[in-house]
Parts: sequence; structure tokens; C-alpha cells
Amino acid sequence: MAKVKGLKCRECGREYPAEPIHVCEFCFGPLEVVYDYDEIKKNISREKIEKGPKSLWRYVDLLPVENPTVGLTAGFTPLKKAEKLGEVLGLKNLYIKDDSVNHPTLSFKDRVVSVALSKAKEFGFDTAACASTGNLANSVAAHSAQAGMNCFVFIPANLETQKIIGSLVFNPTVVAVEGNYDDVNRLCSEIANDLGWAFVNINIRPYYAEGSKTLAFEVAEQLGWRAPDVVVAPAASGSLYTKIWKGFNELKKVGLIDEVKTRMYGAQAEGCSPIAQAWREGRDFIKPVKPNTIAKSIAIGNPADGIYALQVARESNGAWETATDEEIIEGIKLLAQTEGIFTETAGGTTIAVLKKYVEKGMISPEETVVVYITGNGYKTMEVLEGKLSTPVKIKPTLKDFKEKVLARV
Ligand SMILES: *Cc1c(COP(=O)(O)O)cnc(C)c1O
Ligand SMILES: [Zn+2]
Repeated sequence: MAKVKGLKCRECGREYPAEPIHVCEFCFGPLEVVYDYDEIKKNISREKIEKGPKSLWRYVDLLPVENPTVGLTAGFTPLKKAEKLGEVLGLKNLYIKDDSVNHPTLSFKDRVVSVALSKAKEFGFDTAACASTGNLANSVAAHSAQAGMNCFVFIPANLETQKIIGSLVFNPTVVAVEGNYDDVNRLCSEIANDLGWAFVNINIRPYYAEGSKTLAFEVAEQLGWRAPDVVVAPAASGSLYTKIWKGFNELKKVGLIDEVKTRMYGAQAEGCSPIAQAWREGRDFIKPVKPNTIAKSIAIGNPADGIYALQVARESNGAWETATDEEIIEGIKLLAQTEGIFTETAGGTTIAVLKKYVEKGMISPEETVVVYITGNGYKTMEVLEGKLSTPVKIKPTLKDFKEKVLARV
């Protein structure tokens, strides 16, 4: 039962018990869950996982939860071989990890929230909360409804209408803050300590972040128990990107895969790219920026895991790259028109950046490449207004059909 040893400061290494805490009392570094891998290794096998539930909970041995009760349907999303997009880009082994169809709220956030709120239940919290760029609010609201928890979600006031409705339908208290995500997050950090609420990405963050590892676990299993040569993944706070790397390396530690030679390629929107800018300038620290991009779900100007994302890129022989708003729209269209997958702006960013890595010769044609599509296009439809062809309007007559439709093809 002792799979989790406790929490550990990522900066000074001080250890703490596994409680709802997230910063080191000595150096203010972030805390991370540490496991007893020898113990886990005795318990885990490919066969056991393959017989497990068709959700991310098949990997419960590598997650910080004893008894999953919230988000039992999250994860286990398709890994699609992208033949047509691969042909366009000149890649023979390109795969899309499609979290645009994650359950229940159509983004990768259902992974982290399942783990965070299952843990919050174990801790005995009755109120869930978050600081969100949109998708997290949707997921926390949905899972709180499932779990019978009170719910408060904090968002920047200027979010896409579909994302706001996608929270309100579950009837949480939605607090729309006049400011950007970083303002929202600062406010939530100030109030989180006093309230006794489970703020999934603040005081529960060490557990929340572990949910992202399942993006690596599933891909390795779906590839026949191996890590890909290249990953392309987006970053907001940088948590998802760093945890994919942690996930592959854990599988190796417990003997489920042989080696991890994956190059971790990151993607940010040019209008909010503090990690990519640091990479470009060879810095090992982040200079916060003011977000200005249509990719609102990944618009974090002061990313909590930014420095760790830079470390992962260095360690894995990876890199960081950006896409402009125009390129993001083109990325959304390219994925839709080759693979039939409708992603949101974060996915458009990732596809646009994938294209750049290929054009720069940083990915070779035979390599196994996995691109993480983290959100659904039906939530950010407004960015496509005026960017697509329009319906052909006709009267309900054969004449009109022939003149206006057939005459065009
Ligand atoms: C939140 C989010 C991300 C990035 O998450 P981080 O772990 O904060 O880097 C990526 N894509 C989508 C669609 C998101 O909602
Ligand atoms: Zn510390």
C-alpha cells in the first residue's frame, strides 16, 4: 500500500507527508509526489494494466490515489495513425493522441481533475475550486457535479462564450475576474490558503499534476509498450509537458518499457510564449509576459512549471517553438481537413509547430512522432468566424441547385 512515499520539494529536496500542501516551507519551491518504485515494480505488469478499466485508472499503481471515486471515465482516448497529415508533412509514422474526445468535457483536463478530485475526496474536502483558462473550469465543474461537491471556478472575464457556458451548465459559481489568467491565479493563491477548499491547481496541485502522466502511459501502451522518438505537446503552465516526460521515465523505472529516447518538442502561441522565448535566448529562467493570443487555453504569462519545462527540453534533446495566431488557424484547418479532427486553438498551435519542426529538419521521415491534441474545436468556434468558406444558399428548387451548386463543381 505504500506506493506513495510523500511529497518532496523540487528545489531543495526537503520531504513532506502526502497532505494537501504545495509549497516548501523553507524555500517556497513546488512540491512533487514521490513514489516507492521498487514497491510498485513488484505489483505492476503489462498484463495487469491491460486487464484494467478502460480509463486512466488502469494506471492507478502509478497515481497518488488509493481509491478512485471521481472521473471514472476519463482517459483511454484514441491514438490515431495520421496517414493523411503524415503524407502532407512527409512523416511515415505520425500519430495523434486525441484528447479532444476525452470524457466528460472534451479536453485533457479531465485527466488531471479526475486525479485531483479523487484525492480531494480522500482528504475529505467538500468544495472544489480552480483558477482556469477555460477547460479546467469545465472539467472541475463537471466532476464536482458528479462527486456532489460544491464548486467555485475562477476564469478571466474575456473567455470564449462556449467555454463559459460549458462551465455554467453544471451550475458551479463562476467567478469572472477582470484580468488575465495570471491575475486570476494570483487572486486564487491569496484566497486558497484560508478557505479550506480543494483548489485543484493550487493546494492540490502536486496530485493534480500527476494525472498528466497518463498521457505518456497510454501512448506507450498504444504503441505496443514503447516510448515514441518524438513528442510534440503544448504548454500553458508547462505541467502537462513535463509530466509526459516523467510518465515515460516512470514506465522505464518499473520495467514496463525498455528505453526512453524521446525528444520532447514543446509548442506555445507566439502571443504568449515565455517558455519558448527563454529557450530561444538560451535562458534557464522565465521572464513573465502579458498574453495576447487567440490560444486562450494556453495563455499563461507566468508559467509555474516553466523552468522545469526548459530542463526537460535540455535533458531530452528537445526544443521549443511558437506559432502565430494566423498559423494557429491554419493548423486547426490542416488537422480537420486531413484527419477529420476538430481541435481548438491549443491543438492548432501544436499542429502549426509540428509543421515548423519538420520544415527545420528536426524530425526525420521514419521516426515515430506523437502529437498531443489536448482540446476540442467546438469550444473555440468563434476564432473561425470569417476564416472558412460559407454555405451555398439556395431556394428549395432543382433549378437553383443546378445553377448554384452543380455549376460550381
Ligand atoms: C490547460 C491546457 C493545456 C496546457 O496545460 P499545462 O499543463 O498548464 O501546460 C494544453 N491544452 C489545453 C487544451 C489546455 O486546456
Ligand atoms: Zn524547498
